[in-house]
Amino acid sequence: MSGLDVATTDDVSPAVPPLIALRNVSQVFHTKRGDVPAVQDVSLSVGAGDVLCLVGESGCGKTTTARMAAGLATPTAGAVEFEGVDLGAMDSAQRRRFRTSVQYVHQDPYASLNPIRSVFGTLSAPLKRHGLAKNKAAAWEQAKELLERVDLTPAENFLPKFPHQLSGGQRQRVAVARSLSLNPRLMIADEATSMLDVSIRVGVLRTLTNLRTELGVGFVFITHDLAIARYFGTGGKIAVMYLGRVVEYGDAHEVIDNPKHPYTKALLAAVPDIDPDRRHDHDPGLRSVDIPSLTDLPSGCSFHPRCPVYREGDCDTTPPVLSAVDSHREVSCHVAAEQARDETAR
Ligand code: SF4
Repeated sequence: MSGLDVATTDDVSPAVPPLIALRNVSQVFHTKRGDVPAVQDVSLSVGAGDVLCLVGESGCGKTTTARMAAGLATPTAGAVEFEGVDLGAMDSAQRRRFRTSVQYVHQDPYASLNPIRSVFGTLSAPLKRHGLAKNKAAAWEQAKELLERVDLTPAENFLPKFPHQLSGGQRQRVAVARSLSLNPRLMIADEATSMLDVSIRVGVLRTLTNLRTELGVGFVFITHDLAIARYFGTGGKIAVMYLGRVVEYGDAHEVIDNPKHPYTKALLAAVPDIDPDRRHDHDPGLRSVDIPSLTDLPSGCSFHPRCPVYREGDCDTTPPVLSAVDSHREVSCHVAAEQARDETAR
């Protein structure tokens, strides 16, 4: 890969280190049922103003990956770097800077706000805690600006309100405004719009896009919805995860419009079409709908029990490696790699 701001970390020391870089990170949970390898050998990075969408079914490792990027979980193997500095080697000043620069927006706006705190109380708390507002009047003005930034206007009408007086979309905007209070450089949005009505979702996505384009905020955007990944990931990258590994990575529009990995194709085929006459085109053709357990992963390619183009003696014995199939894409699949080789040879 080249030294793009959003790239897998095969990069050779880019001049400006990415905001966040995951370098061969793994996360294994030790449970009574055995070890659960939630994330295995993932390398991804995001630069200022860039977006990386993590997509895949629930349990694929998206959230665990994002939690490691946010410093909320420590990888069992590999390293997480912020602006080129390993989180595990940071001094207290670097740690403080990381804590304010990287903000996590959760899926549930109902649970993420304190029900007994007004919007002003929610927004002013981090400002006071970090000494960013000299007094209450200054905090009020800054809180107003934050609400205007997320299109909650007139802001003075919202500041005295409590969460139960807001709609779901308004609450999520308040949650985004709170995460903006410390001037973050990177936001990690974990299914941040999935609980919102479709009409409200578009507005919140537009707000997040403006933060990216106007303020240069980088995004790790987690979603199971490929349509949203395409919308929000425009100009950025998508990493498709399956059972803890990245199986396809590349330019967002390429991954969605011209998927190479059989799992990405199956995900896209499963997106419902509004036209009933076209629904028969959308059978993903999976050999099985059951997702294998992380505690008992299949041999070879972990997608092989479900893969429509599985090849016996190859896919069930040898794990594929994530590798470039063209200048825009890395795919972990024997068949896709072979097709790429054939196309190059032609
Ligand atoms: Fe399917 Fe084989 Fe590719 Fe795995 S390696 S996705 S089983 S074709």
